[in-house]
Amino acid sequence: MNINEPNKVYSSPAMHTAEHILNSQMVKYFHCERAFSAHIEKKKSKCDYYFTTSPTPEDIATVEQAVNDIIQQNINVEEIFYPKDKVPSSISIERLPDPSVDTVRVIRIGDYDQCACIGEHVTNTAEIGTFRIISHDFNEGVLRVRFKVSS
Ligand SMILES: [Zn+2]
Repeated sequence: MNINEPNKVYSSPAMHTAEHILNSQMVKYFHCERAFSAHIEKKKSKCDYYFTTSPTPEDIATVEQAVNDIIQQNINVEEIFYPKDKVPSSISIERLPDPSVDTVRVIRIGDYDQCACIGEHVTNTAEIGTFRIISHDFNEGVLRVRFKVSS
């Protein structure tokens, strides 16, 4: 479960872990924020980002490849618990589902991504399979990316 969507139930740890990696690479390549909205389902998922212009198909292909490059490194997905006042400043805790918690769970994927999250994840990126961006469209300041994973 993404901290930005505390009420969503995620049924696919592989899809959801891919979402973490996708967010990390979107931020890296486009200097955007992580997705402000996500719908994660077993067959296909979508993430929405605030964008100012439409990315090129080449940009999207670059991000897709970067996500697969990370997945293929068979990286352990770690769960780290920080006291709330000791969470590294690079990790956003502005939208915790329960702001009164003392301990924050952070999901770390090697040196690529760290994100506060209470959802279910795979234990190693090898379990994700191949990541594919099915389509993307840009409308009124929002980029929607649809993707799937397949073993
Ligand atoms: Zn998560």
